[in-house]
Amino acid sequence: MGVKIKFEQARRFQSLLEPCTRCGYCTFWCPVYQEEPIETCVARGKGVMIKALLDGRADYTDKFADVLNKCTLCMTCAEHCPFKAQIPQVIVGARADKFKAKGLGFPYNVVFKWLLPHRTLFGNTVRLASWFQRIFMPKTEGTIRHLSFFLSALGKGRQIPSIAPRFLRQLVPVMNSPRGGIEARMRVGFFSGCMMDFVFPDLGKKIIDFLTKNAVEVVVPREQVCCGAPVFLGAGDLETGRKLADANVRAFADLDCIICGCATGVSALKDYAKFLADTPERAEMYATFGGKVKDISQFLVDVLKLPVSAYQASAEAKGLKVTWHDPCHLKRYLGVKEQPRQIIRSIAEVKYIEMTRPDWCCGMAGTFTISNYELSKKIVAKKLETIKAAGADAVVTGCTGCMIQFIDGFTRHKMPQRVMHIMELLE
Ligand code: SF4
Ligand code: SF4
Repeated sequence: MGVKIKFEQARRFQSLLEPCTRCGYCTFWCPVYQEEPIETCVARGKGVMIKALLDGRADYTDKFADVLNKCTLCMTCAEHCPFKAQIPQVIVGARADKFKAKGLGFPYNVVFKWLLPHRTLFGNTVRLASWFQRIFMPKTEGTIRHLSFFLSALGKGRQIPSIAPRFLRQLVPVMNSPRGGIEARMRVGFFSGCMMDFVFPDLGKKIIDFLTKNAVEVVVPREQVCCGAPVFLGAGDLETGRKLADANVRAFADLDCIICGCATGVSALKDYAKFLADTPERAEMYATFGGKVKDISQFLVDVLKLPVSAYQASAEAKGLKVTWHDPCHLKRYLGVKEQPRQIIRSIAEVKYIEMTRPDWCCGMAGTFTISNYELSKKIVAKKLETIKAAGADAVVTGCTGCMIQFIDGFTRHKMPQRVMHIMELLE
């Protein structure tokens, strides 16, 4: 049955839909349409559907919502659209309108509304899950077959890394001074994101260590919470998104620069102003906050301007042939493309190979992969083929979401290649 919805958010972004001439050029680029060549899978079809909603010619049924969820928000359509239509943003608006009218069912409400805004509670729940995971779940090649308990809805047989025995907040102090007593040239905040806190804490520690080695003082505020990407971008829950955004703004209030090693995290923190600003005060606060946030590779190259000699290969990276995967949130949302390549090419003992279509979406996209796992697997399979064809030992990236997707893909396809974060290449 249809739902009565006001479409406040979709109307906010409606002008971005208007330039669409229905030329169909986006069909050649959309990763979803390439796997399911149905009109409702591509930006053009979704745009027509949203327009019908706004004109009162269609109902926002559950089936309709499923169609709008079949989008990775990769922005490839917008990047290539000859008429500059920006349909993914209207999709986010329409999802938010649906959420406001209908909400989401269990267990999403439990995770989004109750756990994500409360970091300690979230951490303790993840910790509890990890105990059960170790006791009950069989391990395979460093990954587990199922997520346990409240995260089970997110799993569906996915190969995912284990929850770390110690979280990042337990591995590093709040204040991390430059090593060897050298004077700090800069002071930055470190935004870990949930994945780096709970699943990849060693990676978070490595980033912090690299920064302190290069004379940067790193503050890791304990009050920081989830970036909110799955909440306000994926599910359309703007109210919880605002709670998370306000908490993060408060946590980093006394810092002028915030570094994050996850492209989705960086992008979400910057998107607060676009999607969550409901008052002039919040608009200003979020814009100021977003302006401070930088991706780690962007920070190293554009701000620190480290010399080539700073980029030495880590023991695990020496002798590897690697290729770079552009996370959608890094290349298309933030325009960061050359900086990571510059870093990798600077590492003498690592061979860099550019793969075909390095910016092809991996199909992760947060909640997309949960509700469309079969489709997500097809999209990543194509990516895995290009990595293999490039002859790389490892695909390197800068987004923890993409990393999870590649771990799942390589394991399922029994491929010898691995995924590494760009900072894992560095000593
Ligand atoms: S979104 Fe752009 S590329 Fe796609 S049909 Fe519309 S005008 Fe053409
Ligand atoms: S954002 Fe990506 S997945 Fe969504 S319609 Fe555009 S190209 Fe397709």
